[in-house]
Amino acid sequence: MNQIQKEFLDIVADVRAHLEYQRALGIKSIETGSPDIQTPRVQPATAAVPKERPVVAAAATHVVKEPSMPVTAAKAGQTMTLEAIREEIGDCTRCKLHPGRKNIVFGEGNSKASIVFVGEGPGFEEDQQGRPFVGEAGELLTKIIESGMKLKREDVYICNIVKCRPPGNRNPEPDEVESCIGFVKSQIRSINPKVIVTLGNVPTQNLLGTKQGITKIRGTWQSYEGIPLMPTFHPAYLLRSPGEKGKVWQDIKLVLEKLGMPIPEKK
Ligand code: URA
Repeated sequence: MNQIQKEFLDIVADVRAHLEYQRALGIKSIETGSPDIQTPRVQPATAAVPKERPVVAAAATHVVKEPSMPVTAAKAGQTMTLEAIREEIGDCTRCKLHPGRKNIVFGEGNSKASIVFVGEGPGFEEDQQGRPFVGEAGELLTKIIESGMKLKREDVYICNIVKCRPPGNRNPEPDEVESCIGFVKSQIRSINPKVIVTLGNVPTQNLLGTKQGITKIRGTWQSYEGIPLMPTFHPAYLLRSPGEKGKVWQDIKLVLEKLGMPIPEKK
């Protein structure tokens, strides 16, 4: 099966899961002629497979929000072990992403890492494997960590703002972020890293509570609950715009400098 066929089956599975979720909410029919619901279009087979999440105005926006289960410890500001946080997530049904997922992608790495990388949410490969950043963008992130920073992937911690894959690799929507962000905050509190690196707009804006775009804010030190935070471009963006890799390397050098780590000559 080629990549386009895989993506197509994936879209069908997402649509089916979405409809099942609507049925579970008691919605028995959908109006197909409604002008404000955009019918998802399947790209012609010749179109390139998108490398980064498109911002899709999906029918999912119209779903009635399920009352979210409380993110108890995160809201109470307690420090928990990563295992306890994973347990609290359980077999999560807090948001509309849950029916479409294969795996919850909790995060992985050193529970005492000095650096935590935060992405936006799992893609296809991450959902399949239940591990963060293992697809094409993940390979690039691993290269930045291992060949660039001269660290091992297992030495750092890698996680996402949302733990379930948004359909069609779109950006997570505000209600999905709201249901899930307490967990990444708990993970950060548990690890208590020396530096956080946010990858792209979604984690940067949601952790900092800013609307500033990544192009403007990257490369400048920010602070999240007293922890220095360096925003940089998402590796998926670098795959599309390899000319921007130098900027990420600059940001990473600032991170190494902050940690007092040796700065390798080149990537
Ligand atoms: N993109 C992300 O933001 N996170 C992943 O885990 C994979 C791709």
